[in-house]
Amino acid sequence: MDLERDHLLQNYARYPLALARGKGSYVYDLEGRRYLDFITGIGVNALGHAHPRIVKVIRDQAGLLLHTSNLYYHAYQGPLAKRLAAMSGLERVFFANTGTESVEGALKMAHSHGRAISPEKFEIISLENSFHGRTFGALSVTGQAKYRQDFEPLVPGVKFVAINDVAALEGAFSERTAGIILEMIQGEGGICPLTPGYAAKARELADRYNALLIADETQCGVGRPGTYFAYQRSTPVVLPDVVVAAKPVACGIPLGFILANAKAAAAIKPGMHGSTFGGGPLACRVGLEFLDILEGLLPHIQEVGGYFHLKLNDLARKHGFVKEVRGFGLMLGVELGVPGKQIVLDAIAEGLLINCTHDKVLRFLPPYNVSEKEIDQAVKMLGKVFGKVKGAPTSL
Ligand SMILES: *Cc1c(COP(=O)(O)O)cnc(C)c1O
Repeated sequence: MDLERDHLLQNYARYPLALARGKGSYVYDLEGRRYLDFITGIGVNALGHAHPRIVKVIRDQAGLLLHTSNLYYHAYQGPLAKRLAAMSGLERVFFANTGTESVEGALKMAHSHGRAISPEKFEIISLENSFHGRTFGALSVTGQAKYRQDFEPLVPGVKFVAINDVAALEGAFSERTAGIILEMIQGEGGICPLTPGYAAKARELADRYNALLIADETQCGVGRPGTYFAYQRSTPVVLPDVVVAAKPVACGIPLGFILANAKAAAAIKPGMHGSTFGGGPLACRVGLEFLDILEGLLPHIQEVGGYFHLKLNDLARKHGFVKEVRGFGLMLGVELGVPGKQIVLDAIAEGLLINCTHDKVLRFLPPYNVSEKEIDQAVKMLGKVFGKVKGAPTSL
């Protein structure tokens, strides 16, 4: 802690907790104290910690080939791309390492798509409260001024509209619109789902104005909502032109991707985009192993996610300061009428890792293979913590 205080950029506000190892849904600190991990490194450790099949492929691949760059082929990028295309209903894949980087590539795709039609067609529509990452492009479409203000001027031509406001959306589109980027369930913004009607309207308007519909599924995608992608929850499915994902894709090894339909993919020609690390053999092999396991886990995610949602609703009824429980599958949020920071600290003291986003929304991103018993444990700890909230009337 002292070394970090003296030598790191002071951009993070860490909790006073140093982790040493993990197993399943639990992590252990340096003193060996156990914590139930319901935030999983912000939705990354999708199969919990030290999953035997993931450990095995990492060990094996580390002894064979870690990195090739994209100068050469290896055995895992092609099969993973084929699999992602089949899961998504889209056609072509670009591999990156992080969510931000994948968003960045998708924005370049939209700009290139627009530019091929007219030099004036470069506007991107994005939603208020959204989060898309920290690089200049991704930051420019992030709908929260607190992240943007110190870095302006940013990429021009971005219009922000209120979430689930169909009239505002309609008003923002024009012939200058190259793309619209949205999270089907806003994560960092406080676990806020788009209404099916809103997503359908975005699809209709993107078609009318020949703009690319980009779904940023970095947090809400690849199994977490109980479907492969969050846009697959509604019927009829609102199929985006471009899908971006990252967090859980290789269970802790950095791997992100852009999925594109033929129209969007045509905007990127040889030499227009690339990555040194993206889509390496280790990450892609782990990604394939993860998707193999995920296939059988979707019903479990729906089942335990539904169970957790019910239990959180029970808690909400007992504690007057809880305003709302939101989300799908294992992406759940509890909106409070009080600040969440102390609750998160009290939960850590109790042995439960969660996080608070947007000051007042507790965020739960447990591992996909979490058990009902572990959910019961978490709810019990949370109940104890809620009982201690000062000045908040509770009713039984
Ligand atoms: C986390 C997140 C990102 C940024 O991903 P990084 O891997 O941190 O670069 C982008 N979009 C959404 C929706 C996210 O949740």
